[in-house]
Amino acid sequence: MKRFVQGVDRSQVTLFPESLEDYIAEENPVRVIEAFVAALDLRELGFKGIDPCATGRPAYHPAVLLKLYIYGYLNRIQSSRRLERECQRNVELMWLTERLSPDFKTVADFRKDNGKAIVQVCRKFVGVCRRLELFSQAPVAIDGSKFKAVNSGGRNFMSQRVKQRRERVERHIAHYLRELEAADQAGVSMPEGKTTQLKEKLAPLAQEMQRLKDIDEALAHSPDGQVSLTDPDARVMATARKNSGLVGYNVQSAVDTKHHLIVAHEVTNAVTDRNQLASMATQARTEMDCENLTVLADRGYFNGVEIRACKEAGIHPLVPKPRTSNNRVRARFTKDDFRYEPEKNQYRCPAGEALTYRYQTIENGRKIHVYFSSACKRCAIRAKCTSTELRRIRRWEHEAVVDTMLAEMERDPGKMRLRGQTVEHPFGTLKFWMGATYFLTHTQERVRTEMSLNILA
Ligand code: SF4
Repeated sequence: MKRFVQGVDRSQVTLFPESLEDYIAEENPVRVIEAFVAALDLRELGFKGIDPCATGRPAYHPAVLLKLYIYGYLNRIQSSRRLERECQRNVELMWLTERLSPDFKTVADFRKDNGKAIVQVCRKFVGVCRRLELFSQAPVAIDGSKFKAVNSGGRNFMSQRVKQRRERVERHIAHYLRELEAADQAGVSMPEGKTTQLKEKLAPLAQEMQRLKDIDEALAHSPDGQVSLTDPDARVMATARKNSGLVGYNVQSAVDTKHHLIVAHEVTNAVTDRNQLASMATQARTEMDCENLTVLADRGYFNGVEIRACKEAGIHPLVPKPRTSNNRVRARFTKDDFRYEPEKNQYRCPAGEALTYRYQTIENGRKIHVYFSSACKRCAIRAKCTSTELRRIRRWEHEAVVDTMLAEMERDPGKMRLRGQTVEHPFGTLKFWMGATYFLTHTQERVRTEMSLNILA
């Protein structure tokens, strides 16, 4: 063992520092947690248990449990059982909690009962960042990422899945019933106990049919046609990978493009990002306390109604248009190949013909103007344009808002690069920090608390 760094003999008598204070260096992050929590008005934030009960066993002050949780999420110890253990052996936690070690039930109940207050703590921290002028007036980038819920894919149902499952169970039942009938006809020649065995196999199948019937009823009352049995709020999310079947939540965040700090976040169970732009942008502007805000988002957020809502609220959105036209797949002219002429309120097609305004219709609650030209009937390049007699172009009554935004983005393509470099990085860090795992809590309200703790940490 010579020429190696040597440890100290375990039986050597040593003098440890006398106070816990001596173990915690001046620059140790636990001192930041201590100072941050000490500066919070926990009553104003809505924490329960601020005033101790006159009778019964004394409770832990919410500040102790809040510090414990912030430390836990900062150090990848999210589970209440592991936090309980760490309180007994971790010197930093001994210092932070003044050697208190609450049991896991107390720790878990604190997170369960103080969800709203914990979310407010996260907002308070954003306020601290704002006062420290860490948020520039630079644009914020908005993005969403899917996080797994505690609900497995097998415990999420849509009507198609219930139908397939029922058909499979019915096939099994039919098979066993045929065997039973054969057993009855065979009489004494059947092996002993075969009939009982078959009846035993049929009983759980009958239960499964009843369970599927209950799920069907629940589906009939579900507004989005999904039922999750473990976490009722979790939903199958649309992800880039086809048929990935991720059951979870769609976490939205708005990130400051200068310091990459998460300005605002929200846990939703919306399966796509299409309706999230205006609410996230408004939340980001409130948190940043600024008048003019530019928000950058990816194609998944492209939605005329949301873009207009941002504009009306005085927010400047920049969202690229998705390339999902069926005509593009069929190698035909897309709407982008038609030029709108606002002064005449008409479109100019690739053949140079004018498509004039014809009528108005309502689609998904939006007023749509329809344009076409009778020149299509004799057009030489019609095969490249449409499979019908006339090519119709649809225009939303407020599409000018979208056109102006797209024209601006064409002039400044660098903005989208900035978005990618900004908002995807915090999500990567968060997922790496949380590990290849799922949320530990059930229901949207509690998952929101858990996410706030992750983001605060
Ligand atoms: S089919 Fe009609 S809209 Fe299309 S290019 Fe020909 S004239 Fe223009």
